[in-house]
Amino acid sequence: SKNDAGWHLQNTYSRLPGLLHVSASPVPVKRPALKVFNHELARELELNGSALDTQEGAEIFAGNRIPGGAEPLAQAYAGHQFGHFTTLGDGRAILLGEQLTSVGERYDIQLKGSGITPFSRRGDGRAALGPMLREYIISEAMHGLGIPTTRSLAVTTTGEAVYRPQPLPGAVLTRVAASHIRVGTFEWAAAHGDTAAVKALTDYTIARHYPEVVGSAEPYLAFLKAAIDRQAALIAKWLQVGFIHGVMNTDNMALSGETIDYGPCAFMDVYDPATVFSSIDRQGRYAYGNQPSIAKWNLARFAEALLPLLHADEEKSVELANEAIESFGRIYEQYWLDGRRKKLGLHTQEDGDRALIQRLLNWMKDAKADYTLTFRSLSADTPLPMDAPFQIWHGEWRARLARQPQSMSEVVTLMQAHNPAFIPRNHKVEEALAAAVERDDLSVMERLLSILKKPYDYSVDAPEYSAPLDAGADG
Ligand code: AMP
Ligand code: MG
Ligand code: MG
Repeated sequence: SKNDAGWHLQNTYSRLPGLLHVSASPVPVKRPALKVFNHELARELELNGSALDTQEGAEIFAGNRIPGGAEPLAQAYAGHQFGHFTTLGDGRAILLGEQLTSVGERYDIQLKGSGITPFSRRGDGRAALGPMLREYIISEAMHGLGIPTTRSLAVTTTGEAVYRPQPLPGAVLTRVAASHIRVGTFEWAAAHGDTAAVKALTDYTIARHYPEVVGSAEPYLAFLKAAIDRQAALIAKWLQVGFIHGVMNTDNMALSGETIDYGPCAFMDVYDPATVFSSIDRQGRYAYGNQPSIAKWNLARFAEALLPLLHADEEKSVELANEAIESFGRIYEQYWLDGRRKKLGLHTQEDGDRALIQRLLNWMKDAKADYTLTFRSLSADTPLPMDAPFQIWHGEWRARLARQPQSMSEVVTLMQAHNPAFIPRNHKVEEALAAAVERDDLSVMERLLSILKKPYDYSVDAPEYSAPLDAGADG
């Protein structure tokens, strides 16, 4: 149904087998108020920003008023959390529906922090303002970096406190996603032994995200392989920019290939593959350098859920699944190498490229070099610490560049398109959140977001946004 705000909601997910969802409504809040509204994203969704950046919009995005055409529900899913299987489901989120644009794009509109649902277990169904603004900043930063991600349309405050355990202002995030179908969604259906539900979910996911496998000889195997490929591409992109998701549980891996669920995530400063950001990840399971192998592990859980669809013969299914999963390393490696070549301005391919890249990474680790700044400096030809090991590497790199036909300006163009000048530095994110949460000053966050919108723009002169905290930023 159409109205002034531009809602054009469908509810195809609610037509899936009942095992996969329960109808549930957001719990109204005391005093809805819009904190942030993403006008650019509203335009992409063909929503009317001026009708929604209003008190009426605040009521919708806080869950107090349901837009026309919505059939709100909570999605059921399971997941492996730090390696252990559990049943989960939307314990603090409600899917309002799917916004359909005039070009046929379909986007989930989800409220996160919208009150208890049948899946809340002992949780309060709520979210605090700081983490919701944090998800807003990081997801929009990822989008700016060109990395597939869920996005953030709005954050509202609720006028209610949440206890963590200290009282914090409550908030609701409006999350926009290609879908919220997770590896854990398949695990949920499979754990119930409901092959019909696994099949319905699979057919739905294929139609929505992998139409290219429809009509192939073995569509379910082709789907598994395409999903593996998409995750490999995503994780390679994360590593290129130094992103650490922090909680790569199978319920936080989306079949769309988008990055989802920004909790204790961060961008690495000093290069070290062992870098961990989540305080709950004491073993370093989800450390920066572990992310590819965790993705493969998660995809193996996904393949297990699909086993009944892969082949009539169970042993054959397992064989096909194993073969597909074992291809992850090779596929990932290719994405990784392609991306790394671009970061070093290599238009051509040589056998020694991998080793050249690895030597730079080794130097960065030994020298405790800032990851983003090192690549930025190479891209802009600004001075780096010229210790002896770095000088040797730099000479090898220059010699490698000289062996390709491309000009230096072509090298620089390629590098600057793949080495962000700006990432959401942890201290800048914290500074923006402190201003917004403690002083109700959104201007610091708005300025940060404006920088993060164009992270590859080397003409932006904003040293305080590019410098790491310990670099004595004087901008
Ligand atoms: P996450 O760690 O955000 O990926 O969430 C893991 C699971 O915990 C999901 O099922 C969430 O819905 C649930 N959850 C997280 N926080 C809350 C909360 N405050 N109330 C209820 N459920 C929650
Ligand atoms: Mg989650
Ligand atoms: Mg979550």
